[in-house]
Amino acid sequence: MPSELGLYIHLPFCARRCPYCDFWALPFSPAWAKPLRQALGRHLARLTEIHPVSGRELTSVYLGGGTPSLWPAFALSSLLAEIKKNFLLAEGAEISLEANPDSLSPGKLIKLRQAGFNRLSLGVQSFSPKSLEILGRSHKPGHINRAVQWARQAGFANLSLDIMYGLPGQSLPMALEDISRLLALGSEHISLYQLTLNPDTPLGRQYRTYCAPMPDEALLLAMEDQGYQMCERAGFTRYEISNFARPGFNCRHNSSTWRGGDYLALGPGAHGHLNGCRWANYYDVAAYITAWSGGGEGVEFYEQLPPEQRALELFMLGLRTAQGVDLEQVSGIIGQPASQYYRLALARLPALGWGRIIYPYLKPTALGLRMADSAALLFFPE
Ligand code: SF4
Repeated sequence: MPSELGLYIHLPFCARRCPYCDFWALPFSPAWAKPLRQALGRHLARLTEIHPVSGRELTSVYLGGGTPSLWPAFALSSLLAEIKKNFLLAEGAEISLEANPDSLSPGKLIKLRQAGFNRLSLGVQSFSPKSLEILGRSHKPGHINRAVQWARQAGFANLSLDIMYGLPGQSLPMALEDISRLLALGSEHISLYQLTLNPDTPLGRQYRTYCAPMPDEALLLAMEDQGYQMCERAGFTRYEISNFARPGFNCRHNSSTWRGGDYLALGPGAHGHLNGCRWANYYDVAAYITAWSGGGEGVEFYEQLPPEQRALELFMLGLRTAQGVDLEQVSGIIGQPASQYYRLALARLPALGWGRIIYPYLKPTALGLRMADSAALLFFPE
C-alpha cells in the first residue's frame, strides 16, 4: 500500500467568481476570514484524533481553493506553523500553495518561502488579454512574468504553471503562442488543461462545446498534440493526462492521490481519504464555522468504499497516469489476483492498443491516455 500521507486544505474564497468555474469557490467575504481561520485551527487540532494516522509523517501539504494566495502571508504562515505543531513532516515534504498571479508581492512570497512553502502553483491560464477577459480572470498578462520573477527571487525552486487551451475564439497559433510563452518562463511543472464548459456555468450557458466560437474537435486535437510535443521538446515528461514535469518534479501530492494514497482534509468542501474511507467536510462555510465553534466535526459524509469500488477508482485514476495501475495493489484490495478477477478487461486493453502490462503495472499507451475514460469503463462490474 502507498505509504504517503497528504493533507489537503481547501480555502474556498476568490476575488470574484470566474464565469467558467465549477469548483467549490466563493467571492471573498472579509466577515468570514477570521472565524474561518479560527475554525481551521480547531479542526486541525483534532484532525489526528478524528482520523488516527498512528504517527505517520505528512509527505505533502497542499493548499488549494479557491485562491489561497488571497490570504495574507501571516495567516498562511501561521496555518503552516500549526500544521507542523500537529504533525510530523517527512524530510523534503512537498508544501504547495495555489496562487493567482495578481495576488502576490515580493514581500509576501519571501514570507511564504520562509514559512516553509516550497512549491508554488500559479494559475496563468492564458497570456492573451482578450482570453483572460473572456475567462473573467482578475489578472493581466503583465502580472504573470512578474509573479514568476518574484517567486524565483524569494527562493521557490519548484514552480508549477497552469495554462488552458480550447478557449472561445482561440486559433491553433494562439494556443501554441500561449504554450510557448509559458515554456519560456522555465518552470519545473506544467498543467495543460482543455477548457471544458459545464453548461451550468455562465460561460457554459453562453457557449457550447464544439460550437463556434469554441474550437471544434479537430482543432482541439491539434492544440493538444502540438502542445504536448512542445512541452516534451522543452524537457518535460507527461506523467498524467494534463500534467508535465521535469525529472524529479512530479507533483507528489496529486501523484499519491492518483495511486489511491491517503490524505486528510481541512477546510470547507475539502475531501479526504484514509484506508478506503472517504469523506467530505461541510461545503457551506457558515455551517463549517458553526460546527467547529461548537465542537462538531463538520463532516458532510463519510463512506467506507467496498473493495471493488476502491479497485475501480485505482483503474479510473491510474489509467490517466504514465505509471499506470499497480495490479499487486489491486490484488491486495480485492483479496484475489487482479489478473484473474479482471481477466477480460486486462486482455481487451492490449488488444485495443490502449494498454500493456509491465508487471506489476498496467500502463496506458499514448492512445490509451486519450481513451482513459473508456478504458476505465472496461473495469466496471458486469
Ligand atoms: S480563481 Fe479558480 S477557483 Fe477561483 S473562481 Fe476562478 S477558476 Fe474558480
